Amino acid sequence: MFLSVFDIFKIGVGPSSSHTMGPMTAAARFLDDLRAGANPIPGAGEPAHVSCSLHGSLAFTGKGHATDRAVVLGLCGFEPATVDPDEAEAALARVAETGQVTPHGLPALQFDPQKDLEFDYGPPLPGHANGLVLRAFDAAGALRHEQTYYSIGGGFVLTAAELDDLDRTPKGLKAAKKDAGYQYPFATAKEMLEMGAKYGKTIADMKRANEQAHMEPADLNARLDAVWKAMSDCIDRGLREEGILPGGLNVRRRARKIHQRLVEQRGSNMAQPHVSNDWMSVYAMAVNEENAAGGKVVTSPTNGAAGVVPAVMRYYRDHCIGSNDEGLRNFLLTAAAIGGLIKHNASISGAEVGCQGEVGSAAAMAAAGLCAALGGINEQIENAAEIALEHHLGMSCDPVGGLVQVPCIERNGLGAIKAVSAASLALHGDGQHFMPLDNCIEAMRQTGVDMSEKYKETSLGGLAVNLPEC
Ligand code: SF4
Repeated sequence: MFLSVFDIFKIGVGPSSSHTMGPMTAAARFLDDLRAGANPIPGAGEPAHVSCSLHGSLAFTGKGHATDRAVVLGLCGFEPATVDPDEAEAALARVAETGQVTPHGLPALQFDPQKDLEFDYGPPLPGHANGLVLRAFDAAGALRHEQTYYSIGGGFVLTAAELDDLDRTPKGLKAAKKDAGYQYPFATAKEMLEMGAKYGKTIADMKRANEQAHMEPADLNARLDAVWKAMSDCIDRGLREEGILPGGLNVRRRARKIHQRLVEQRGSNMAQPHVSNDWMSVYAMAVNEENAAGGKVVTSPTNGAAGVVPAVMRYYRDHCIGSNDEGLRNFLLTAAAIGGLIKHNASISGAEVGCQGEVGSAAAMAAAGLCAALGGINEQIENAAEIALEHHLGMSCDPVGGLVQVPCIERNGLGAIKAVSAASLALHGDGQHFMPLDNCIEAMRQTGVDMSEKYKETSLGGLAVNLPEC
């Protein structure tokens, strides 16, 4: 199994990796198909008109997650990693006015978001809870090309055929195919620990060697540093901004004020000892407020859970004794190894397994990363990830109004606190523990399978339907 650290940590835009970044990427991929003239339906002329239908969770919570805007921007040629917010707003206004998109390399395509973008509230598509279908027609209205995409969490997008291929490939073969050429092809935590013991390598060493199979060491360090910088910049922006978040819930940004109070109290002997929890919360909330505002964030492993890993990294850098740049890189590499295991063997998608797969996975990744950065051995790192994930099992996804705000923003703060506690507990032990991480990941997968659809990012249950009278 090989998932690059840059597959797990992708620089993009808020508010959701599965509902915003994924659909934008799907639309961009569809344009590539049209440019390449892929699979034209026989007899159809050149593409002149496009449409899109959103299904399952993308329909139910798509408005709150800005899925409609993401599809329009994708069809305009924008991609999550490079989207400029001002240019994006101008493009959205142009499409609303002209009823067409003008991606480079293609003729102008008719696309009126009011008519050509459908929220289908019927049963979800068979492959995954987050499905969308893009279609292109010729000038006479004949179907020219159609593609079904699934946004499977963390910004990853697969066509129906790719998903099918993945599902039909036996697990061992799937791992073997993907692992070709990598030095440490672990697909489970058990294999990861065995390889580490056999070759005398840390998890970060093994992950680094795998990445270096297709990247120079200096490039790898530069890209890791760029990921951390994007995370850290996002925290700083979130600590500067104030006001009401978009979407209609009237949720006020709180990170700036809390941070100002913490800075004032710093060094005071009147501060309570639990103030360290507030630092972790405020870093995470700053990221998730930025995410809710549609700002630039890093999937970690998703946008909804994007605050946990950066918050714990910032905690490590600014509050822990002996922190350094190499520790930050090892943090990211180790966290990515754990995120990859969870994605490979269960899911990081709230629409598939609830919030245990998003904030739970993020906490496991952050706990492992911190434990590694503080010098933990592989067994302690695996223990830290397991503790953090175990105590998120069963956590549902029920965002109010389909927005990534309540409970998501505070939940990231609490996820960061649990991650630090988990790392600390693991560092107090010798790595020997009762429940292996692999079993905990499997428990999460099974819990997700059994969970009602109401609690899997549809906003049909839980907090989303128990609102206070306003
Ligand atoms: S509740 Fe959790 S999984 Fe659901 S949108 Fe919020 S952060 Fe994501």
